[in-house]
Amino acid sequence: AKTSGKHTYRFFDPKFYDALRNRLQREADLRHAIEHDQFVIHYQPRIDVKTGRTSSMEALVRWAHPTEGILQPGSFIDLAEETGLVVQLGQLVLDKVCAQIAHWTRTGDVMVPVSVNVSSRQFNEADISRIFREALARHGVDARLVEVELTEATMMNGDQDINSALHDMHKQGLTLLVDDFGTGYSSLAKLQQLDFDVLKVDRAFTRELGRSDQGNVFFQAIITMAHALGMRVVAEGVEEERQLDILRALGCDEVQGYLLSQPLAPTSSQNGLFRELHR
Ligand code: C2E
Ligand code: CA
Ligand code: CA
Ligand code: CA
Repeated sequence: AKTSGKHTYRFFDPKFYDALRNRLQREADLRHAIEHDQFVIHYQPRIDVKTGRTSSMEALVRWAHPTEGILQPGSFIDLAEETGLVVQLGQLVLDKVCAQIAHWTRTGDVMVPVSVNVSSRQFNEADISRIFREALARHGVDARLVEVELTEATMMNGDQDINSALHDMHKQGLTLLVDDFGTGYSSLAKLQQLDFDVLKVDRAFTRELGRSDQGNVFFQAIITMAHALGMRVVAEGVEEERQLDILRALGCDEVQGYLLSQPLAPTSSQNGLFRELHR
């Protein structure tokens, strides 16, 4: 028994075993959380640079963990993606967002569209356009109040199926956004062919503004290109006043970031979410 024990240990490195057990535990937790709906949505406004008003809000998921508190997506979204649980999670998020929009409509709050992040697995493994159509119908929500964010990577790895899903969603009246723009290698042809409405430039490029001439030139080029293709441009991760000034001078349409507002719980709608930018 002793020798076989030793033998066993060579194959089952305890550290590897711990990591595996941890991961399986985490996956089980996440599955349980989805089944018991332990998620909440926070909303971060996108501000129109010209009018200073909230033009839209991004829905960002948080896990209200029973013992660990509110967890940011950075701690679970990769696992959800790898395990495929992101498909069910995405469904849950969309349902919550539609219910919230319906609530805001009933209570007569100022209405702006809400954008929802959709991962590549949702495009590949589910009939995503049908899922949106059914969620909108179930909650009686107008398609013009919902926007869809997909990353440049998702878009570029997509096959014909993604293209037709996107066309279908556009026909429903949903607004389409390219997220994290600048981090992938999308072609102009693809952007135009898929008829995107909005380009969201990745935070990494916002960070470069005012630090180097190149940073500003890059942004200017994106804005010029996007406008030529009939798209609006959003800068994400705006944290400094100086960045906002430069973006305004460059003709950027909308800004999002901690300078304007953190993502907020929907109950903050009276005191921040629909706030105007007073400058
Ligand atoms: P993302 O789509 O690029 O979302 C923007 C992230 O930047 C959010 O992080 C937001 O809180 C953060 N952020 C906003 N303003 C600033 C700023 O001024 N500075 C900095 N440093 N960060 C800022 P969050 O909420 O932790 O989400 C992280 C990522 O998780 C998102 O990146 C998105 O890829 C993913 N995610 C969030 N919610 C969902 C969801 O419902 N479904 C899916 N599939 N992914 C989601
Ligand atoms: Ca996003
Ligand atoms: Ca982004
Ligand atoms: Ca990002």
